[in-house]
Amino acid sequence: MEFQALTGSVAFAVTQTAVALFMLGLYIAARRDACTRYWAIASALVAIGVIAPFPFIGTSLRLPSMAVSNTAIVAGLVWMWWGMRVFFGRAPKAIGWWLIGAHAVIFGGIFAFVSETQFRVIIFAVAVAIAVTLIVLEVWRGSGTPLTVARRLVVFAYAVTLAPIIVRAAILLGSGTRMTPLTDSTFNVMMLYLLPMAGGLLSSVGTLLMYFERTIDEKDYLANHDELTRLFNRRAVIERGMQTLAAAARHNRAVSILLIDIDHFKSVNDTLGHEAGDLALSAVATTLSAACRRTDIIGRYGGEEFCIVCADTTADEAMHLSERLLRAVEAITPPAGLRRSLSVSIGIATATDEQAWDTLLKQADRALYAAKDAGRNRAVAA
Ligand code: GH3
Ligand code: MG
Ligand code: MG
Repeated sequence: MEFQALTGSVAFAVTQTAVALFMLGLYIAARRDACTRYWAIASALVAIGVIAPFPFIGTSLRLPSMAVSNTAIVAGLVWMWWGMRVFFGRAPKAIGWWLIGAHAVIFGGIFAFVSETQFRVIIFAVAVAIAVTLIVLEVWRGSGTPLTVARRLVVFAYAVTLAPIIVRAAILLGSGTRMTPLTDSTFNVMMLYLLPMAGGLLSSVGTLLMYFERTIDEKDYLANHDELTRLFNRRAVIERGMQTLAAAARHNRAVSILLIDIDHFKSVNDTLGHEAGDLALSAVATTLSAACRRTDIIGRYGGEEFCIVCADTTADEAMHLSERLLRAVEAITPPAGLRRSLSVSIGIATATDEQAWDTLLKQADRALYAAKDAGRNRAVAA
């Protein structure tokens, strides 16, 4: 039994059309993300490239249609590369046009002057290899974050796409054997249609997955962070605080929490306006965050209140940290027009055995009130 080339090529054309349609769907659903437009155009170009030769099989226009089709595929890959750059926050590079142009000119030139030659296989292989390498490098680099499952899948998919094209060119260079399209042979059909089809499907699914991965990350970030200060929000602090308390109880370790409130903040708003107030609030957040240890969990607990959860921290150590925070906030350059330094008051509560979050927080809150009563710009331990 042998695979049939026509069936293989039709399957390839059908799947690429389906890919182009769902990439178009992604673009319609997420038009605000410019990368989806590049990906939709890329998939449409590849689909055109795969379908273009069909109407011309057996006619005198077969060879020109191949020039169009191969150039469309190269252009599709370049658009994919641009889309990946846009996805990772980089500008598309104009050099992609050169690749498309060079391929079209050389390819077209060969048809015009040398009629059909094996060069087109080599030229196409070189152009595709360059474009795929550009895509893979872009995805590999990402935005500097560790490789995700989806990005690995995309890299693998492009290897699957590129391999048969390279093999075809290598066989031609090595033994002069041509793998002619539409020849019934299992090897031919695998190399010319099935593997590229698998590569096309996998790469587009991988690209979609990459997009979803990032959407989920962004939603996660928004759900857990405060927009103004970029610290954790209240929900996230409570969740992480409870986890820290549970872990500490299991290992018999102390946990301290610091409740921090900016002193006389209303007067900052009243004298300088809400916007200046926001700026001051962000400055305090940044300063607190920088003065904490990497393991501390810091969040905005309410309007101008912050909460820091310190794992493995005794009451003495928490007081030490608080003193450091007080000095750091005092050292902030006051907003223009404010005739005093910014300061905070801190309430400290420490759990040495199993304790509920709410109880600990109430203790910290009472300590904070005591710090305010005692004149502000100080820390009080419960
Ligand atoms: P105290 O020293 O007793 O804490 O005095 P205070 O003025 O800081 O306390 P109070 O709770 O009366 O005021 C808190 C103010 O914080 C009231 C509110 O206008 C302001 N505030 C809360 N959230 C924000 C915010 O997101 N932006 C700005 N600009 N102001 C905020
Ligand atoms: Mg206050
Ligand atoms: Mg307050």
